[in-house]
Amino acid sequence: MRRIEVTTLDREPTDAASAATMKALIYEGPGRRAWKDAPRPAVRDAGDAVVRITTTTICGTDVHILKGDVPTVTPGRILGHEGIGIVDAVGPAVSRFRAGDRVLISCVSACGTCDLCRRAMYSHCRTGGWILGNTIDGTQAEYVRTPHADTSLYHVPADADAEALVMLSDILPTAFECGVLNGKVQPGDTVAIVGAGPIGLAALLTARLYSPAAILMIDVDANRLQLSRQFGATTGIDNSDGTAIDRVMALTNGAGVDVAIEAVGVPASFDICQSILAPGGRLANIGVHGKPVTLHLEKLWDRNIAITTRLVDTAAIPMLMKLVDAGTLQPARLVTHRFRLEHIMKAYDIFSSAAQERALKVILTRSPSDGSSQEVQS
Ligand SMILES: [Zn+2]
Ligand SMILES: [Zn+2]
Repeated sequence: MRRIEVTTLDREPTDAASAATMKALIYEGPGRRAWKDAPRPAVRDAGDAVVRITTTTICGTDVHILKGDVPTVTPGRILGHEGIGIVDAVGPAVSRFRAGDRVLISCVSACGTCDLCRRAMYSHCRTGGWILGNTIDGTQAEYVRTPHADTSLYHVPADADAEALVMLSDILPTAFECGVLNGKVQPGDTVAIVGAGPIGLAALLTARLYSPAAILMIDVDANRLQLSRQFGATTGIDNSDGTAIDRVMALTNGAGVDVAIEAVGVPASFDICQSILAPGGRLANIGVHGKPVTLHLEKLWDRNIAITTRLVDTAAIPMLMKLVDAGTLQPARLVTHRFRLEHIMKAYDIFSSAAQERALKVILTRSPSDGSSQEVQS
């Protein structure tokens, strides 16, 4: 095996690090998770960084994984694909980062050089994509190994707000790229967003960058609809009674909407989207779908519509970072609960009962000066 030279912040690299343990949130099969000891990651490939996590969060996708909906995630996997931390060690091919740097971790790891990366489809990178907390260990841990560090990490200024920026690992770029960009939101548009969870609200925040004339938010949760109005929605439509389609058509004088953003991932919400499109409308799907939907082509074939799907590429992260820095975007408004990282089991309980707990995003933190809970002397 090739020995890799590693630069580290405060300890001897591979041998000592591989002997050390850390705490991590581990998927143990459908319905089962545990916060327990795991081997501390070390640099394995030349382009890797090992990052000491200081802020992370739980994603709706993690809940899907725990339900057993994501077969690529196997028992024993450390979950999490969002995070901010301090670089602890880098491989010899990493040129843009070094130990001690504060970084934002993209949920998508990308080599930057394969054919699909060269077409800016980083989510489909031949040796990356969404792998963190999926096919390799993720960020809900004291340390994480991040492959392709040069093209998958971002420098974070020391004074930047970690709660705001950790929203840029996944949900802000997902909502923006898959919903707003693919939906081609234009000034003056009428936009409907189906689903007022964290992703739907992130789509609302980023759709507003394009000055639509109206944003109609559709959900079945009165609290989330109330929140969406505080976030700038023109109208909240409660679909508890199943009348959302009629009400959108009435509100638009029978015209329908220019953009319908699907932010749930179930057949019923896709059906609302395809039923409210104006001629020339765009249906931008964000939701993760596990079941087939019925496409009503008999009603749509002559309507000049477009339907888009996409996995987030996170190409928008640098732009979104500028908007957060400028105060134009305030994604920390999505944060409803805060925990220490070691209380992540409780955080999952809260996040899994989001409606009752009125939870959107839960933040997990670890102070930059905390020692590892399981330091091993070498
Ligand atoms: Zn996610
Ligand atoms: Zn690639």
